[in-house]
Amino acid sequence: MKIDTTNAHDFINDAEIWAEIERAEAPAPELVRDVLAKARERKGLSRFETAVLLQNTAPELDYEIFSAAHDVKNGIYGNRLVLFAPLYVTNECFNRCAYCGFKADNGDLDRRTLTDEQLASEVRVLEDLGQKRLLLVYGEHPKLGAKWMAHTMQVVYDTISEKSGEIRRVNVNCAPLDVEGFRELQQTGIGTYQCFQETYHRETYKKVHLSGHKANYLWRLNALHRAQEAGIDDVAMGALFGLYDPRFEMLALLTHAAELEKEYGVGPHTISFPRMEPALGADMSYNPPYAINKHDFKKIVAILRLAVPYTGLILTTRETAEYRKELINVGVSQISAGSRTYPGAYTDPEYDRPDVQQFCVGDSRSLDEVVRDVVSQGYLPSWCTACYRLGRTGEHFMELAKKGFIQKFCHPNALLTFDEYLNDYASPETREVGKKFIQTELAKIEDEKRRSTITKRVVRIDEGERDLYF
Ligand code: SAM
Ligand code: SF4
Repeated sequence: MKIDTTNAHDFINDAEIWAEIERAEAPAPELVRDVLAKARERKGLSRFETAVLLQNTAPELDYEIFSAAHDVKNGIYGNRLVLFAPLYVTNECFNRCAYCGFKADNGDLDRRTLTDEQLASEVRVLEDLGQKRLLLVYGEHPKLGAKWMAHTMQVVYDTISEKSGEIRRVNVNCAPLDVEGFRELQQTGIGTYQCFQETYHRETYKKVHLSGHKANYLWRLNALHRAQEAGIDDVAMGALFGLYDPRFEMLALLTHAAELEKEYGVGPHTISFPRMEPALGADMSYNPPYAINKHDFKKIVAILRLAVPYTGLILTTRETAEYRKELINVGVSQISAGSRTYPGAYTDPEYDRPDVQQFCVGDSRSLDEVVRDVVSQGYLPSWCTACYRLGRTGEHFMELAKKGFIQKFCHPNALLTFDEYLNDYASPETREVGKKFIQTELAKIEDEKRRSTITKRVVRIDEGERDLYF
């Protein structure tokens, strides 16, 4: 692959972003409340309005931000929460990212790339637990190119476990490819392509990306553009919080999202906001230069929800179980569960060895435990993949989302996939709680005809049919 940035778009202007942040300094309470009133209309926020919320320091107004985010999330997504698991395919990497345990100069890491058989075994374990949506994660190594990655995606789709399990959507988090490489992934049926800029601040970017392709800021900044050029219309962005000033990263994320919308008519499908976790062999990860406390991080999540109301927000198991509950309440729409962060981890009898992991996991509960807990919080777990399989992606998906589609289709599809999960994979305890919850959710549907149609489908699932969706 040839790295070429001749025609790259360079849309991050540091001075402009800082000017917005400074303009919003010490905002008056009335201004913060005006912005919150606009946010409640679910039309999103400008960079300046976002900066106003980020610059607020009055604790009581922070709680109003949380409350607005909670309401906007419920208004758009209802109580549904999408679940997925990451699957690490290789930890071989020739980049040197100062914060990551997979970096090339970490001599203590046990390097592994899964063979097809090992990958299929991992997939079967995940299928037998009830997972339907996977995020494949790769280190970057010249010997492991786009064709090989596309092949590993195919192995995942082709692996069907005896318990009738199948993976229905494969998302990918890998280093940026060229357009041709992205086309390989597109043709193999990629769901979402995910690439985090880590930091949008050039100087910091240079300091922490010491060598390898990843040292090229512009190549990475244009990754999602190239993915779109190759026909991948669900793309996902993120920043690694802890590297630089979070206010800057937030406005830069919004700039990136707006740039994609301008070019391709659709912004990111999802945004992730990993917070730096300790990673063995990566000293900086133990002491992030811009460590963020829990309150401020929750505020970041809430403000993202208000700024881009229709974009999915992904929370991973980097955060602890207790804290995840709080973050879900302020706007998260997707969570990973039962995650293991190294190649071969799901089939490893000696699971949890630090010498192969990318970073430490904060929430190590099983999928079943997470599901039970999510339900006890009043959220409806979903493994729905209908939109992707019916071609409701990219611009088309966003258009529908804005018309209240999520409540109309996603909620019933969540009920159907949850019922499948309960019948096929749940522990007796989770099944009992979950079945009651489904009845409560059905009873909440006011329109009698609609309630009856959805109830009939749930009955069909209970009678043995699978993979039904609207
Ligand atoms: N190698 C590809 C890349 O760098 O884009 C994809 C895989 S990389 C393992 C996925 C993400 O993990 C990175 O984009 C980064 O944001 C995150 N990450 C790396 N080190 C981390 C750490 N110590 N704590 C939390 N997240 C980390
Ligand atoms: Fe490699 Fe990605 Fe880790 Fe950087 S973040 S060292 S590119 S796996």
